Amino acid sequence: MPSTSGAGGDSGAADSTPDGPAVAAALNDLGPLGPGVWVELAVAADIEAVEAVSEILTRFAPGGTSVEPGFGLTDEGLGAVIDTTKPAIVRAYLTGLDPAGVEAAIAEATTALGHLQAFGLRPIGDLQVRTVREVDWAEAWKSHFPVLRVGRRLVIRPTWRRHHHEPEDVVLSLDPGMAFGTGLHPTTRLCLAALETLADEGLLATGSARDGAARIIDVGCGSGILAIAAGKLGAGELLGVDTDPIAVESTAANARLNSQTRRLRVRQGSVPSGEGPFDLVLANLIASLLVQLAKALRGELAPGGRILASGIFRDREGDVRAAFEAAGLRLGRRWAEEDWVALEAIAV
Ligand code: SAH
Repeated sequence: MPSTSGAGGDSGAADSTPDGPAVAAALNDLGPLGPGVWVELAVAADIEAVEAVSEILTRFAPGGTSVEPGFGLTDEGLGAVIDTTKPAIVRAYLTGLDPAGVEAAIAEATTALGHLQAFGLRPIGDLQVRTVREVDWAEAWKSHFPVLRVGRRLVIRPTWRRHHHEPEDVVLSLDPGMAFGTGLHPTTRLCLAALETLADEGLLATGSARDGAARIIDVGCGSGILAIAAGKLGAGELLGVDTDPIAVESTAANARLNSQTRRLRVRQGSVPSGEGPFDLVLANLIASLLVQLAKALRGELAPGGRILASGIFRDREGDVRAAFEAAGLRLGRRWAEEDWVALEAIAV
């Protein structure tokens, strides 16, 4: 049964489906629909049920769905970490220009979700319905990005949020609107946590940069999140490369935002970079690219240097390991989260 934030509402309309009066009541609570008004459908669902719920909502929302993972609060509620044991929220938006269409969509979605709930496979919440006015729209999505803690001391702070940081915290300010790499994707988180481990071992503070710290290349830098974190964790020189010009712009903007422009250079491109050797290669790419680029990534390394490779779906781990070994790399540590794996590989 759909529920709205308001209570009651008269369910005058006679309806043939069992959900009819409830849907009419829900619509009454929404207030006037029309131009500039969107109807948000939201369902809380266990992580395993997200895809099925998403499929249902997509039937009614041509714009597709968004998924907000469950968060657990830290730092006395000032920060958050992703908690996969908590339900995620799937959202979809319908245009308010077609009130009859909205009513039909709510009724059908309620029925379809009811069937899914009846399967009882995984917990799925009730359909929540509310309106969003377009004028609030530009700001509305921002509330879905909390300050995020990764590893022990890395903190990813969306630019518009405040964070009272602990003395040891390393804070990155990012605008998640810009490119992949908000710190929310598991492959990015894995790589950040691994990077923090290397920093804790002193591996970023020593190397072949002019200042004696590590020289690092971030292959597929996206928003620049990994390179910026490496810079803040003590690396000496950083090069970010990405084939996508938007990513290059985004990394440059984020480098400025985080006062990393002296350390971090970025340009469009890939490997071979022609600028090696590096002490560390960061590569949060997909498995097939890691396999394809294994030799070129190896070619960037100084003797004893290492690759942090992430973005490996667990079924492809064997392929990446084999390609790295064939390229003359020794496999080191392994980090895993949900379906994703990150690997350390060392140039022998
Ligand atoms: N490093 C960021 C972004 C990872 S997404 C993070 O960890 O969050 C992967 C990035 O690799 C994308 O920005 C994509 O444009 C880039 N990319 C894809 N193929 C590439 C290639 N062959 N060489 C370099 N970058 C590539």
